[in-house]
Amino acid sequence: MKAVVLHGPENYPNNYEVMEIEKPVCGEDDILLEMKAAALCGTDKRIFTGGKTKGVRPDSVVGHEICGLIAEVGANVKGYSVGEKVAIANVIPCGHCSACLSGRENACLNRKAIGYEFNGGFEEYILIPKICIESGNVVKLPESVSFAAGALIEPLACCIRGLRNTGTGFNDTVLIIGAGPIGLMHLELSKIAGARKVFVSELDPEKREIALKLGADRVIDSGKEDIAAIIAEETNGEGVDRIVMAIGINALVDSTFKLAKKGGTVCLFAGFPKGKMSEFDPSVIHYNELNITGSTAYKRIDYLQAADMVKSGLIDLDAIVSAKFKLDDFREALDLHMSGKALKVVIEP
Ligand SMILES: [Zn+2]
Ligand SMILES: [Zn+2]
Repeated sequence: MKAVVLHGPENYPNNYEVMEIEKPVCGEDDILLEMKAAALCGTDKRIFTGGKTKGVRPDSVVGHEICGLIAEVGANVKGYSVGEKVAIANVIPCGHCSACLSGRENACLNRKAIGYEFNGGFEEYILIPKICIESGNVVKLPESVSFAAGALIEPLACCIRGLRNTGTGFNDTVLIIGAGPIGLMHLELSKIAGARKVFVSELDPEKREIALKLGADRVIDSGKEDIAAIIAEETNGEGVDRIVMAIGINALVDSTFKLAKKGGTVCLFAGFPKGKMSEFDPSVIHYNELNITGSTAYKRIDYLQAADMVKSGLIDLDAIVSAKFKLDDFREALDLHMSGKALKVVIEP
């Protein structure tokens, strides 16, 4: 079968190839999934260029936003049948470490994940192991949900975790930095959570346009407009209640902290490059009593809620898919993804 094999973290773009590998054998406790959609994620940018190596094995298949059809069901597996459409919650917590026991399974110390410790979505058939099935990570979808939207339940679940950490709710003013797929999902979720006004700052005019269509109250051209002046004018000089950094640019951290209201929360949601420092003025955190938080992955409940939102049509994920490519054209897909011009890029078999 065809797969995108990532040989190692170095030598991008010559560190991966689309090649034939052996189709996985479905054991009696496993499910074999026929991949129908696997989306590229910001994390994949860092994985292919060597910026993220944790859990990534040499000569493996990555891809963690996955939807497909069940092709085979092991003899001991109950509750699933061949032909069913399912999406995969790829993060599998251990359930017994201190993070899991304190209610932070998303930050599990021993977590395993499809697309990392187990081969992921950029291949024709994906083996879903027992541990993933038993922890409830295989979620059935109705006909009405597209394969692409099914794959995007995973990043939506991450954004739901981010929304919870940010604490966004009724009557809040919210600023989202960056209108890539993650920023746009945060925008949609903030509106659903009851935010009064959501501002989105973004360089790319096309992405600002989509943010407006998805309900942004005001978009800010971060290249030309003075974001501090606009936020001051829009909030009587007080700043916004909640800020989500949906782009991991270290140089923006300091100026972003200054846009939050007293007692406000700033969520550094995007992945920031490990070991790279930011310079910021701590007195802003001190005097403004800011809450600074991050967000990693999702809990299974976030994934189930994300799936419910997609199933009920409450959130539109197809609107943020900009291109679809066949597995054979993965290189083209990754190039487009790396360019930063597209929203979600989805791989099909
Ligand atoms: Zn992702
Ligand atoms: Zn754990």
